[in-house]
Amino acid sequence: MSGKSITRGSVIGLNAYTTEAKLIGKVTDLEIDLADPRNTMIVIDKGTELVKLPVSAIKAVGDIVLIESEALANAVTMKKSAAETRVEAATQPAQVTTPTTTTTTTATTTATTAPTTPVTQPVTQAAPATQYVIPRCPNCGSALIYYPKYRAWYCPKCRKYVTVSPDVLSRVPRCPYCGNYLSYIEQYGKWYCYNCNRYVEI
Ligand SMILES: [Zn+2]
Ligand SMILES: [Zn+2]
Repeated sequence: MSGKSITRGSVIGLNAYTTEAKLIGKVTDLEIDLADPRNTMIVIDKGTELVKLPVSAIKAVGDIVLIESEALANAVTMKKSAAETRVEAATQPAQVTTPTTTTTTTATTTATTAPTTPVTQPVTQAAPATQYVIPRCPNCGSALIYYPKYRAWYCPKCRKYVTVSPDVLSRVPRCPYCGNYLSYIEQYGKWYCYNCNRYVEI
């Protein structure tokens, strides 16, 4: 390095290239060895790791820093993440052996397969829909509405409460959610629970 002198400011932030015009990285620092200033190193950031080279490896400084290729081959590289683990690439040129500390976590994705077996209805099913009886108004024949609140059957057409015989009541479907009698809504052909305020599939 006789006759040549550089300053930190003149090299830090510059891109470092080899004499073969290969980009190494960005110069981030100069590491000065106080015990022996001749051991002062230039620190180049390669992205994932840092390369330290003796400043004697610097061939030229201008808009870029030119590094002697042979010097790079013997460079000291270190992982940026674990700066203390120095990897001495003594004989292997430029090839940095980085310890693989990344543990591959294999995500065990258990495929949740929907059961393909069809749900078979039990043979001894409670009275099919056809056996249900729709309580009707004895006066007009309209389907009656059961109001659980009053425990009474109401004819919306005649606008009056109607007494339903126990025989009919025994065959009126009940709400599976609350147990009250269901009301048949002829307009939609569905049973409705006026307690749950919802249609019920029976
Ligand atoms: Zn009626
Ligand atoms: Zn209900």
